Amino acid sequence: MSPDMKKTAQKFVIANWKMHGNFEQNQALLNAYVSKLNGLKDTQVVVCVPYPYLAQAQSLLQGTDIAWGAQNLAKNENGPFTGEVSAQMLRDFGCEYVILGHSERATAYCESDENIAQKFMVAKQHGITPILCVGETLIEREAGVMELKVGKQLDTIIDLYGADVFNDAIVSYEPIWAIGTGLAASPEQAKAMHKFIFDKLTQANGAQKNSVKILYGGSVNPQNALQLFAVENIDGGLIGKCSLSAQEFEGICQAAESSVG
Ligand code: PEP
Repeated sequence: MSPDMKKTAQKFVIANWKMHGNFEQNQALLNAYVSKLNGLKDTQVVVCVPYPYLAQAQSLLQGTDIAWGAQNLAKNENGPFTGEVSAQMLRDFGCEYVILGHSERATAYCESDENIAQKFMVAKQHGITPILCVGETLIEREAGVMELKVGKQLDTIIDLYGADVFNDAIVSYEPIWAIGTGLAASPEQAKAMHKFIFDKLTQANGAQKNSVKILYGGSVNPQNALQLFAVENIDGGLIGKCSLSAQEFEGICQAAESSVG
């Protein structure tokens, strides 16, 4: 897939390695990704690694069809922010994508929607595609307020910067109760939320179809991927646990590829 085709890939499958791996394991996993997944026609594969391994990802993936990214960035450009990593630093390592607002960060590090919105804008300004995670807790779903929750997460960005900023961005619907639990959303649950997100962004954008991609994340595996990826308005997946196994990740990417067309 050429760089231009990446922008028009129909499906995205994005690995979120979280805080897993070491130099040796990463090397084996990235080499396996390349040998199994280079050359997919309709699916853009991206791997979001921990910061220290960006250089390793760059050296093993550059020149292949697989892109790499990070799992967070600082909202500031530079300055006295100990422990933070800026968008420009990510660019120095060829990073094209960044996960923002993952619930594991939002919960553990008290990230507000406003904070995440600022990071979203910084990523865009630096030519890094933001992968914005949105989703509800189990309590919120049981209370029937999941659309309110996700709506507010999107509105924070729309109110600050306008709906246009979602063009060429990625939103990942990640019901928090489905992450790492083995209990994925059903295709019906995912369908309803993806329609809600799609309609909201389209309406906010003056009914012009937004070029945003909407992924599903939460216990996707090779067995359920095809069914989920066939759902209307699901443009692929954000994959945690199964991205740590080359074989399982390949199964998911192949499901994305065969769901196209
Ligand atoms: C995630 O953390 O983004 C995720 C989707 O994890 P898992 O696939 O393990 O549920």
